[in-house]
Amino acid sequence: TSAQTGWNFDNSYLKLPDMFYQRQAPVAVRDPQLTLFNHLLAEQLGLKSQELNTSRGAEIFAGNLLPPGAVPLAQAYAGHQFGGFTMLGDGRALLLGEQITPAGERVDIQLKGSGQTPFSRRGDGRAALGPMLREYLISEAMHALGIPTNRSLAVVTTGESVRRDTLLPGAVLTRVAASHLRVGTFEYAAWRGTRDDVKILADYCIHRHYPEAAAQDNPYLALLEAVIDRQAALVAGWLLIGFIHGVMNTDNVSIAGETIDYGPCAFMDAYNPATVFSSIDHQGRYAYANQPPITQWNLTRFAETLLPLLAEQQKTAVAMAQQALDQFESRFRRYWLPGMRGKLGLLDEQEQDVALIDDLLAIMQRLRADYTNSFRDLADEQLTHSELHQDAAFQEWHKRWRERLAQQGQPLRTVRKIMDRHNPAVIPRNHRVEGALTAAEQDGNLQPFEHLLRILATPYADLADADRDYREPPEPSNRIYQTFCGT
Ligand code: AMP
Ligand code: MG
Ligand code: MG
Repeated sequence: TSAQTGWNFDNSYLKLPDMFYQRQAPVAVRDPQLTLFNHLLAEQLGLKSQELNTSRGAEIFAGNLLPPGAVPLAQAYAGHQFGGFTMLGDGRALLLGEQITPAGERVDIQLKGSGQTPFSRRGDGRAALGPMLREYLISEAMHALGIPTNRSLAVVTTGESVRRDTLLPGAVLTRVAASHLRVGTFEYAAWRGTRDDVKILADYCIHRHYPEAAAQDNPYLALLEAVIDRQAALVAGWLLIGFIHGVMNTDNVSIAGETIDYGPCAFMDAYNPATVFSSIDHQGRYAYANQPPITQWNLTRFAETLLPLLAEQQKTAVAMAQQALDQFESRFRRYWLPGMRGKLGLLDEQEQDVALIDDLLAIMQRLRADYTNSFRDLADEQLTHSELHQDAAFQEWHKRWRERLAQQGQPLRTVRKIMDRHNPAVIPRNHRVEGALTAAEQDGNLQPFEHLLRILATPYADLADADRDYREPPEPSNRIYQTFCGT
């Protein structure tokens, strides 16, 4: 390991066939300044904060200076974007290498916004400060909420402008992920390569993420089932906290089961299963409630790439894949339902629970009740004045719920503690995020951003009195209806 800074790179991706990547150096920037540095994450990675939270660190996180052992490369992949197949690849990101952490884990260290690559097409390879801060904030919030996600290690400003609709300050984000292997990586292998290339990639994924699959009779079927299960868990987690990814193209579906690609994502305020924020999602393909079926659709694209490995006979392979995919919905329910029971404080399982959950959601939808606060406040006896608590159907529902709780024989205080672990008090609400980004971008004032980041680090704790406003949904005038893909 590099004694001073703690970098401990391995580069296993380089051992894949050449077609899977292009070596590419970052394009140096004029004046790198470290804007954000994630000390806690750095320590977990075995990196020395005091050496990296420096101008030298800024050079590294800008791509001007390569850390020891880094071999930068752009990954090749393909993907279905809004249903249509395209060849893609890292157009503005570079993998520096895989950091082996003190705990023995292997994680990708990736720069985003580090300049053009062979996959940039018409893009400039750069990123603007606002969207990189946004990704940093939301990915770290997701982690604190307990959702598998890539992490954010640093943001540097480049001292250069990027041209979008206007000129914006440029930035580079350093991300940390279990890997950047995607469903789209398999689609790329299947489309561009041979059966052997798919097999090499599948073996690599098994070795890196699902080693237990290697011992199964059919390791590739075991891989498919494991990925289906991880994705079912992930999308259930999203729904439980009101998260809308916004751009669930197959190139944004991680084989390791992490949330990746924080372009147009957003959290829902008022409960409505049809909620869409992304400005380019005209059909609602990636609407809140459509996320589980879309995940299954994406997994079907994954399964197709594995067919040649599943069985010699195409017919047998298709039947195996179909059977695995048919289990998606029950796997999803196996994560979602216990999560919902937790949100309602139900400690055991009863058949009527499903109706109890569905009825509450229907009432919330009719009243456009705030998703986060409705759950967080459910056990709060003092909130009887809210619109939800004034509603006759809700009052009836509340009685049923209290009767159900009474059967558990636990005091409400105990139940409430459990509920609080499932129902965040605070989420990255769009209007708060936008406010913090505006202050950072337009006034160079990072304080609102850093305060929001701090609050979001413990989303299940009660807020300090001074911060209680952060729980509030937006005023109608402050509602944000649209988000945009990473600029
Ligand atoms: P996304 O919709 O975020 O998954 O991005 C789709 C593709 O566009 C990815 O391959 C990105 O690398 C590429 N891309 C996005 N923005 C840029 C940019 N400014 N320069 C080059 N490539 C980009
Ligand atoms: Mg992407
Ligand atoms: Mg993106």
